[in-house]
Amino acid sequence: MKEVELAIAAKQNRAEIHAIEKKSGVELTDCYQCGKCSAGCPVAFAMDKTPRQIIRLLQLGLLEEALASRTIWLCATCQTCVARCPKEVDLPSLMEVVRQTAKKRGFVAEKDINLFNDIFLQNVKTFGKSPEVILSALYNLRSGHLFQDVDSVPHLFLSGKAHVLPEKVKNVDAIKKIFAKCTEGGEHS
Ligand code: SF4
Ligand code: SF4
Repeated sequence: MKEVELAIAAKQNRAEIHAIEKKSGVELTDCYQCGKCSAGCPVAFAMDKTPRQIIRLLQLGLLEEALASRTIWLCATCQTCVARCPKEVDLPSLMEVVRQTAKKRGFVAEKDINLFNDIFLQNVKTFGKSPEVILSALYNLRSGHLFQDVDSVPHLFLSGKAHVLPEKVKNVDAIKKIFAKCTEGGEHS
């Protein structure tokens, strides 16, 4: 990309990238691109851009390229990168905020992961946890992967890990309050 195009991108996206920094608590300039995060990331093999490259795109102001990446959806929030980073850059937090921004802007590179996340969170909001039967049934129906993992259903019931009727935690209202707090100001996960 030409120097002038980079300068324009950086200027156009400055406010939004600054908001991502603020919300995630990550100072992008802390990263000096050593690559330790990406070398240790257990999911890097499946990503289209390494975690280090996501930070570099944001440093350069190339926000849309970061938003369109599959990487932000594949991050498993395992914290390995944070443990290895010499600057303690909180990449999982950054990935989460970039993912939220991508969703708001209509960039959803991994629709099934987005769907799974939505159903999981809705379950937690309703029941205080995510019942396996409801999670699997809704995900399979809405994703169109009707028979995904059906072979594990007997084992789940026999081992007591799944129940026909969903169980709720005792104080669901407390969970709802946490959701309300997290979504103050119209922010969504
Ligand atoms: S390990 Fe830290 S400093 Fe190195 S590239 Fe990754 S985020 Fe940047
Ligand atoms: S938190 Fe995400 S980016 Fe960091 S090592 Fe784990 S999967 Fe990779």
